[in-house]
Amino acid sequence: MDVFSIDKIKARWILDSRGNPTVEVDVITQNGLYGRGAVPSGASTGQFEAIELRDHEQAFGGKGVSKAVNNIKEIIAPELKGMDVREQDIIDQKMIELDGSENKGNLGANAILAISIAVSRVAARNSSKPLYIYLRELIQASDPKMKDKFLLPTPHSNVINGGEHAGNKLAIQEFMIMPINFKTFRRAIQAVSEVYQRLKAVLTKKYGPIARNVGDEGGMAPPMTFTTEALDSIVIAIEDAGYSVKSDFLLAMDAAASEFFRDNVYHIDEKELTTMELLDYYSELMQAYPIASLEDPFEENDYTSFSALTKVHPSLQVVTDDLTVTNLTRLTNAIDMAAGNSLLLKVNQIGTLSEAIAAAKLSFKNNWGVVVSHRSGETEDSFIADLSVALSCGQIKTGAPGRTDRTSKYNQLLRIEDELQNNAEYAGQNYRTAYKKYL
Ligand code: PEP
Ligand code: MG
Repeated sequence: MDVFSIDKIKARWILDSRGNPTVEVDVITQNGLYGRGAVPSGASTGQFEAIELRDHEQAFGGKGVSKAVNNIKEIIAPELKGMDVREQDIIDQKMIELDGSENKGNLGANAILAISIAVSRVAARNSSKPLYIYLRELIQASDPKMKDKFLLPTPHSNVINGGEHAGNKLAIQEFMIMPINFKTFRRAIQAVSEVYQRLKAVLTKKYGPIARNVGDEGGMAPPMTFTTEALDSIVIAIEDAGYSVKSDFLLAMDAAASEFFRDNVYHIDEKELTTMELLDYYSELMQAYPIASLEDPFEENDYTSFSALTKVHPSLQVVTDDLTVTNLTRLTNAIDMAAGNSLLLKVNQIGTLSEAIAAAKLSFKNNWGVVVSHRSGETEDSFIADLSVALSCGQIKTGAPGRTDRTSKYNQLLRIEDELQNNAEYAGQNYRTAYKKYL
């Protein structure tokens, strides 16, 4: 019996955090052990992402995934039977070939990714290794310099939701806090939780009980309109919780600007701004608040403005999400144009683990940072927590410190830190550069 050989693949739909169906897979090896993978789903999806295959029939308002599930059962599973689960690249490549399209539109990136994740899990299990160690070895397989220390990521914790993730009028999609002045991940998460609870109180006082409603990523979704309203409330909450803005916490935003770009202008804060005006507005905000990281500041085709912002603010982390969609071709273009300096890494944007790892490696090689990220529609699968430690990239974006779909990732990181003890370092204020020691 070969414990690494694929015997069966089971596929099914389960529900994601927004109550929509998504794909889950169990890859079972000959000894009967299995590894599971569940696929997340975006709301502010980039135009160039790999295709999430949906049925577009009556069930689930068109969002059914029975075609993707059937593709796994009927097309992919028979082809993968007998393959070695440690051969992640070969298995991923095989699925890419079976799909045969540029964007995984035939079989579905959701079908392919569920298997890709599950394969790594069962390989880790049969190797008797925690997932993050197995993944680290996979990532560094060709690198004899592998370190036995691991970097725990600085979270970008999303405490106020706007844009496509909430029912308020905030144009900016995500308002995040980054705990930097803490020795351990656990202590940092304590501080994040304390600020989140204070924020709930601050907002309730100002906007009434409706402010306690939360958005898709678990952040508060108060009836706000203006960017500064959100930033001011967060600053007050940080101070009320007994921490200091700038030395203990930095701020981060994901503008997800494609979502408020219409008719060639940006609709934000009850204004219509040209690209240059929006850039100036970001500069003003950076003068007034300690904004350390800004994601998707412009729409997803505007490499030039990403470059301009990166140049004007060399100390700002400019994160590319919809611009690069974890895609090597688009990332190469962004790197060549210096359109940003940090990649948002979402495994389902590209559809295989191997390609996501390749995107991270390309970023590191070019002095770019990497922020491993969830989607706004999530499951209880905490795969990205292990991936962030395996990459030792130093940053993770996984929503509010509330709601199980988000805390499943934070909690897994807490467990990993416990397990690693002295072999773990918290990235803290070195969130942008600490990865260099871990390459
Ligand atoms: C994002 O834009 O970074 C995000 C997590 O949202 P979504 O999953 O909706 O794209
Ligand atoms: Mg984004």
